Amino acid sequence: MTDERAEQTNEPSEGPEAHEYKAEVARILHLMVHSVYTEKEIFLRELISNASDACDKLRYAALTAPELLGDELELAITISIDKAQKSITVSDNGMGMDHDELRDNLGTIARSGTKAFLEQLESAQDGTKLIGQFGVGFYSSFIVAEHVEVLSRQAGSDEVYAWASDGASGFTIAEATDEQAASIGRGTAVRLTLNEQSMNFLEEHEIERVVRAYSDHIIFPVRLGDRQINTASALWDRRKEEISEDEYREFYRSTGGALDEPALTIHYRAEGRNEYAVLLFVPTFRPFDLYQPSRSGHVRLYVKRVFITSDAELLPAYLRFVRGVVDSLDMPLNISREMLQNNPTVQAIRKAVTNRVLNEFKSCADKDPDSYISLWETFGPVIKEGLYEDPERRDALFNLARFRTTSGDAWRSLKQYVESFRENQTAIYYLTGEDQDLLRQSPQLEGFRARGIEVLLFSDPVDSFWVTNALGFDGKPFKSITQGDADLSNIDMAESGTDVAAPAVDDLAPVIERLKETLGEAVGGVEVSSRLVESPACLVAPTEGPDRALDRILARQDQAARQAPILEINPNHPLLGALGDRMAPARGEEFSDLAWLLLDQARVLEGELPSDPAKFAARLNAWVLKGAGE
Ligand code: ADP
Repeated sequence: MTDERAEQTNEPSEGPEAHEYKAEVARILHLMVHSVYTEKEIFLRELISNASDACDKLRYAALTAPELLGDELELAITISIDKAQKSITVSDNGMGMDHDELRDNLGTIARSGTKAFLEQLESAQDGTKLIGQFGVGFYSSFIVAEHVEVLSRQAGSDEVYAWASDGASGFTIAEATDEQAASIGRGTAVRLTLNEQSMNFLEEHEIERVVRAYSDHIIFPVRLGDRQINTASALWDRRKEEISEDEYREFYRSTGGALDEPALTIHYRAEGRNEYAVLLFVPTFRPFDLYQPSRSGHVRLYVKRVFITSDAELLPAYLRFVRGVVDSLDMPLNISREMLQNNPTVQAIRKAVTNRVLNEFKSCADKDPDSYISLWETFGPVIKEGLYEDPERRDALFNLARFRTTSGDAWRSLKQYVESFRENQTAIYYLTGEDQDLLRQSPQLEGFRARGIEVLLFSDPVDSFWVTNALGFDGKPFKSITQGDADLSNIDMAESGTDVAAPAVDDLAPVIERLKETLGEAVGGVEVSSRLVESPACLVAPTEGPDRALDRILARQDQAARQAPILEINPNHPLLGALGDRMAPARGEEFSDLAWLLLDQARVLEGELPSDPAKFAARLNAWVLKGAGE
């Protein structure tokens, strides 16, 4: 309602309409101006990149509506300097924006995930790194400008609108004056009145340096006055040997909207049945939108250098962090975006490029394990989504996967794991949970440690899902150590010399019966454990159904009622002796208190609350006082 009224009272004909920035824009503006001190010049890269996108857009639209180009066929970007006015202007004759687009595109940040990103920023210590992940865009103008004016005429339209802002609280939009309208043909002109600290950008050589450094690869000519100052050749078309690391980096930054370095660059040309060029990058940092529900990719599809879409899903969602360009030489230019989904050429490219990316990961892992590990630390949780989404490539992905395990702190591959199987070991054991430290303290691990059996420690939510679908690796099944029977009797205790205490109670059977009776439905059973060495008890899931961790996740998502766990007890622990001593009816209450303490501590060790926290506290206090009094 309020919005509508604001629109009505702000008819363009009544003079400039004033708008306030949406909260997130104001916040980002503030952050940017106050956190980007070095490399102020990136504003120029951002403006040129937007201008280039606008030219791309028009060129694509003109494939089906050539009249949009009129007689201005050449698309280009022009920079001009006005020393007297202390301003520079970046213009393009691309698609342009109408009134509403100016308001919406330059007044809000439409990128999905902005809100989540800002919340992250709020709690972050180093905003610079995060803003780099987000990409700075148009608003970076305010790093160097005290006032920004945007004039725009949309292709095919007569109307010109003027957007203006000083980057503080809001902006205005008005119909352009005659003089303004006369100054612009088709497209957009962004004029920056520079602030005192940024006068260096009034120098031609400085602009030229910046354009060469950051925007040389833009495929449209970039002119300073009448002079073209970029190479304007598609970087992906050039030979690898001729391209410097700096050039790759700047291309990555300007197409990916990123400020970090590419961690991996993949550049090649496919020939044969389909001909296309590929230039892809893996970022160093996680892009801000990595975990957005849309899971959209960032590989731009070109056909013969004409940008078609960034939506062609050229890579599967589990590789959505990879960015860059695929340029097809044999697809028809007039292919509509809607047709891409089922186009056989696109499908063939998708398949081949995906395989190539995984191969490149593999050779990085072989040749430069350290870099590969940091790639895995950053993107492993996403790549692992492929383990259940892409069964065809599961083996390839298994070879790429690295895991934390109980054997020290190093990342281990499944191959390494299988190579260090103990004699008679038949399964790949894993333990799932939320936190590595907590996992390492799990009582369920004790029997495995004592036998020198390595256990994979899974702490990414995605792990619970792929592992239940995976049939195994190298013919060995995966087995959760918090589920079912852990039959470890065939495997010797390691040379570790673990002492196993004598049984703490002569006849265990009646104690087990009483435990079952006392704990009732809170447990699905009570059994003697081969998993435990030091701890008195732990919980495991029944053989059928999810393991303890997945059960917890599913219950949290409200998809299932929780299963009653099986309480496994360590027959050699003195607590069992204490239970055995309290079998007489007169000590029934003590037995019950101890039984519940046993169950509750097993829950706490899994990172959960006792079944009834108040009663737990009361029981614990009673026992502490009893001990103190005795
Ligand atoms: P991004 O480019 O990441 O979308 P920006 O803040 O840089 O974010 O720009 C916001 C939007 O404004 C762009 O997506 C585009 O729709 C529009 N825009 C910016 N500059 C231009 C331009 N020169 N011509 C046409 N549209 C533009």
